[in-house]
Amino acid sequence: MIFLDAASTTPVRREVLEAMWPYLTGEFGNPSSHHTLGGAAADALAGARRSVAGILGCRPGEIVFTAGGTEADNLAVKGIALARQAADPRLSRVVISAVEHPAVEESARYLERFHGFAVDVVPVDDKGLVTPEAFRAVLRPETALASIMYANNEVGTVQPIAELATLAHGLGIPFHTDAVQAAGWLPLDTRALAVDAMSISGHKLGAPKGSGALYVRSRTRMEPLIHGGGQERGRRSGTENVAGAVGLATALTLAQARQVEERRRVAALRDTFISAVLDGVPGAILTGHPVERLPSVASFCFPGSSGESVLLELERQGVVCSSGSACAAGSDAPSPVLTALGISAEVAQTAVRFSFDSAVAEADLEVAAAAVLDAVGRVRGLGAQPSAGA
Ligand code: PLP
Repeated sequence: MIFLDAASTTPVRREVLEAMWPYLTGEFGNPSSHHTLGGAAADALAGARRSVAGILGCRPGEIVFTAGGTEADNLAVKGIALARQAADPRLSRVVISAVEHPAVEESARYLERFHGFAVDVVPVDDKGLVTPEAFRAVLRPETALASIMYANNEVGTVQPIAELATLAHGLGIPFHTDAVQAAGWLPLDTRALAVDAMSISGHKLGAPKGSGALYVRSRTRMEPLIHGGGQERGRRSGTENVAGAVGLATALTLAQARQVEERRRVAALRDTFISAVLDGVPGAILTGHPVERLPSVASFCFPGSSGESVLLELERQGVVCSSGSACAAGSDAPSPVLTALGISAEVAQTAVRFSFDSAVAEADLEVAAAAVLDAVGRVRGLGAQPSAGA
């Protein structure tokens, strides 16, 4: 099997599992316990926090470990917006982009439904970019928080985060970014990115599912969502997932160490793959930005086919990929991300996303590109969909 769906998840790396092992077995203590076993767990948690903070260019106390990216997004969007509204009831608007992951979008909609917020959605251009002009146009004195993702999970477009965050700060608005897809591929220095909050998730980079973290700049007001024993400085109660935190820190450290070299290598493979597909499949469309995109994502529409049928055909040939995000998989509705880029619902149904991990091999991508040419040809030959401009 050639696994080209790394944006949905990745296997746990051996080094990560080995780093976690002691905290799942012999060193199983609760970090809040006062005996030696608890102390060892607390030390491991502190070490993991220092490692993550080192990579994010922040203080350890600014890291909150969570159970993944969805929780980190919820905590940032709801927690910061609610705290600001509580301090000043006029602060009752939130800004998100039209291509956010549901973890951000649905958090904003929750604020709208239950807490009287208005949600301002910044449109993206046809490459999936939030332009500074479009972003500036939706910021208001009443905006409590802006949340714009670093890199998109379906089309891989990378946003100009530092520029957008600086614009928000000019109006005193805190800025959160969902960096779940960017982590492991793009620089994560929160000071250089000028963000007040940033979400990451372990399972996209070789740590287990259910591990993640939120960076929150010190002195940023944030209401906790999970109340209890006051762990994580009161920002996220619940006995900490020590092994998960150690796993996340190890995976991030490994990714960081090889980031520049891997990024260049994988981006070159991605470009060769994109060219092979665009040259070989008549009418194929690359979705997202041609340059400002994740090294690890190649996403297309194949008008005149059906994304789901192409997926099945590819899987039959041993290539595993996705028709969009894993969250939207199985849904008949066209992807809101693709329609936000101005792609018609009919063409959006023909989307296929290939996403790579850092171990992707050139030979595998050659096989995959040939399989794509064949699979799209077969599906079109079967007349799976009426032609949509191919
Ligand atoms: N944000 C983005 C951009 C994602 O791609 C994902 C996962 O697909 C998430 C958030 C959710 O992260 P998790 O699966 O860790 O909850």
